[in-house]
Amino acid sequence: MTGLKKTIIRTGLETLYFSGLHHVMRPLVGGVGSILTLHHVRPPRYDAFQPNRLLEITPEFLERLLRRLKRSRIDVVSLDEMHRRFIGGDYKRRFVCLTFDDGYKDMLRWAYPLLKKYQLPFALYIPTSFPDRLGELWWVALEAVIAQNKRIGLVIDGKDQFFECSSVREKRELYDAIYGYLRSMKTEDELRRTVRDLCACYRVDIASFCRELCMDWAELTELAADPLVTIGAHTVNHPILKKVLNDAAVRAEIEMSRSVLEAALGKRPQHLAYPVGDATSAGPREFRIAAELGFKTAVTTRPGVLFKEHRDHLTALPRISVNGEFQRQRYLKVLMSGAATAMWNGFRRINAA
Ligand SMILES: [Zn+2]
Repeated sequence: MTGLKKTIIRTGLETLYFSGLHHVMRPLVGGVGSILTLHHVRPPRYDAFQPNRLLEITPEFLERLLRRLKRSRIDVVSLDEMHRRFIGGDYKRRFVCLTFDDGYKDMLRWAYPLLKKYQLPFALYIPTSFPDRLGELWWVALEAVIAQNKRIGLVIDGKDQFFECSSVREKRELYDAIYGYLRSMKTEDELRRTVRDLCACYRVDIASFCRELCMDWAELTELAADPLVTIGAHTVNHPILKKVLNDAAVRAEIEMSRSVLEAALGKRPQHLAYPVGDATSAGPREFRIAAELGFKTAVTTRPGVLFKEHRDHLTALPRISVNGEFQRQRYLKVLMSGAATAMWNGFRRINAA
């Protein structure tokens, strides 16, 4: 996200909050509930170059959020209970689901004790290659390559190109540029190959991030035994599914991850999250395949709150990202009111195209 875009979002949220407009709009846009997306939960780091900071919040921020939810009239429910309410048309009380993507160790260390303390159910979406220690956290690897070097060479359109990145500002700009370039690639294979080449060239061990950051099977087994926890599928290799050309390969990524989780943890996952999950990562083909495979629900990262009409789109559910760049309770309040996401979506309730 560019600095300018961030400012606009922040100003927009501030405007809605301080004007009180989100309260006025709530009957129009509020919906029946929402699903929150979280990734890392850990104490703040003070490095100036942290391009992935939006994916992490502090334990203090999480605790304030949980305490507030516990005291509110909103029910914190499991994904199964959310599904039951949709099928049964039970919208008496607003609900929220807490979901954590990717299964990071810091989630277990910092978030789990808080969720237990407040006895709140939550879901974890696990790409099975992460506990298998074969996963490629390419966005973290790219951060490491740029953090550790002053100059990066990259082959673009068959030509060697070099970029200076000695200052923090240059590092931030280069991260955004290469990240954008990778996301613009036509296929997932091409994206992975480019990152692997960069890692090999600059001696960054791409497999090390999985070992360092992600839970192993023993830790997941411990969590899965807790009745508060729902384990959901998140594919095997965490690909941007829209960039996987072959339909059968998309189906295999999803189906295989469900089988591996079932074999390892003894329970068949009923819920799915699409990796990355925005509109350029999962679309109608993925929504259809998830439904055909019999998942009760599948979530995207398209921003939005839930409406009754989502009953007919249970494999294309929006979520609200608890973004590390906006760690203020008032932003979340505005987001969960549905006012901000309604504006982003042009007041369309369903976005499943
Ligand atoms: Zn993910």
